[in-house]
Amino acid sequence: MSAEWGKVSSKEILAAVKGRMVSGDPKLCFSGFNSDSRATDQGEIFWALKGDRFDGHDFVSRAVQQGASGVVIQEGFQVPLEESPHTVVIAVNDTLRALGDLAAWWRRQHAARVVAITGSSGKTTTKEMTAAILEKGNKTLKNQGNYNNLIGLPVTLLKLVETHERVVVEMGMNHKGEIARLTEIAAPDVAAILNVGMVHLEGLGDMDGVAEAKTEMIEKSSPEAKIVLNGDDGVLMKHAARFGRESITFGLGEGNHIRGTHIQNRESGGVGFDLTFDGTTWPVKLGVPGTHNVKNALAAAAIAWCLNEPPGHIIKGLGAFQGIKGRFQTIPLENDILLIDDTYNANPSALKTTLHSAAPLVKKDGQFIVGLGDMGELGEAAVSAHQEAGKRIADSGASWLFAMGTHVEDVKEGAIDGGMSLNRVVIAKSHDEMIRGIIQKVKPKDTVFLKGSRMMQFEKVSEGLQNHFGPGFPDR
Ligand code: ADP
Repeated sequence: MSAEWGKVSSKEILAAVKGRMVSGDPKLCFSGFNSDSRATDQGEIFWALKGDRFDGHDFVSRAVQQGASGVVIQEGFQVPLEESPHTVVIAVNDTLRALGDLAAWWRRQHAARVVAITGSSGKTTTKEMTAAILEKGNKTLKNQGNYNNLIGLPVTLLKLVETHERVVVEMGMNHKGEIARLTEIAAPDVAAILNVGMVHLEGLGDMDGVAEAKTEMIEKSSPEAKIVLNGDDGVLMKHAARFGRESITFGLGEGNHIRGTHIQNRESGGVGFDLTFDGTTWPVKLGVPGTHNVKNALAAAAIAWCLNEPPGHIIKGLGAFQGIKGRFQTIPLENDILLIDDTYNANPSALKTTLHSAAPLVKKDGQFIVGLGDMGELGEAAVSAHQEAGKRIADSGASWLFAMGTHVEDVKEGAIDGGMSLNRVVIAKSHDEMIRGIIQKVKPKDTVFLKGSRMMQFEKVSEGLQNHFGPGFPDR
């Protein structure tokens, strides 16, 4: 088995992608794969992909000048190769589809066991936690950052080498059929669905639409694959039941195979809980806070359990995980102010969960200040979701709410409906305005929670506050 860069030939690639050889030597081997012409190295095969802003076909000549010895292009495209007539040219109907086909073939040439993780929230965190466990005993490949789409997943799988024993990949989506295709490509041995939330409603309509799209993972996984599900998520479990597959469930509720109980905040800032599986209970100490992270840890433990990882690896791996920038990061500032930087992204379900996670971190004699940016891709549900968000923030006991984006009036309406007084809801027109507003209102011992969709770039607010206050000492 085992395909390997340096040894894989044009002929093999041609067969994997079901393409047409336009020119070049079928025996020629490539040193690697690249879809970025600027980064293409000598001897690589350049893949021309069409993105939202660029079309890789415009960069074929540049990639060849950089040393690419082969190119994959869409049928009909005329390759300008006067200066390098020996370049291998493979034409396909759809270069993105072909990339997935190559990755699917590549994955099947390797013996590593593959874990795939999807869900509306917590994918990257759970991927990192899972990898932290698996790395204890196995050489593990994981996707970088949130490379979880039809380009990111193949790019990750094409990094597989013979010595890898485990692969952990996330799968993201914003329309129907995407998870099905990603699952086909990755052929997971363990397929995990974390939750179903109000995300990408623009493309999927409602929560049932999201659940249907997520459970494509079950539909497309092989009958031998282990299915891991959040047993506490009613919508997910209802939709998963349609496939009649056995599953391993995780969650806080009774009856889950892998269960978390006795959640407590640790003095060091993380969260502790008891992890029960196989009739035995182990204490786990996470370096990150929040009940949502306990759920992510339970998912990672369930995945590891399916791969027969020893409990010691699970406990130690979870303990070693230190969090990821912008994902509910707790940052102590001067004057005993705690900043919770959850600026990486936002959707209504994650807001609900993370407000819950933030509550125990707020000091009794300190204020809770929330900075909220628009939540994107909600389609028709956008207005009501932002009103609901304002109400939730009011219900969480927030002393001040700073809102920014196109839905500020909806957020405000919800907050007032939830009982906040008008002068406690501040609309900010820019990051700077929000930073200045928060600085004015914040007092020692307060907690500031920041959340907004990626497009809102709320990390700028986080950086502004960190620059103003400087680091403090962790004590909660
Ligand atoms: P994803 O990769 O699915 O976008 P991340 O792990 O990057 O998820 O986390 C993004 C944000 O989602 C976090 O900052 C937090 O606000 C929220 N989140 C993380 N895990 C969960 C969970 N299990 N349930 C609800 N919200 C979560």
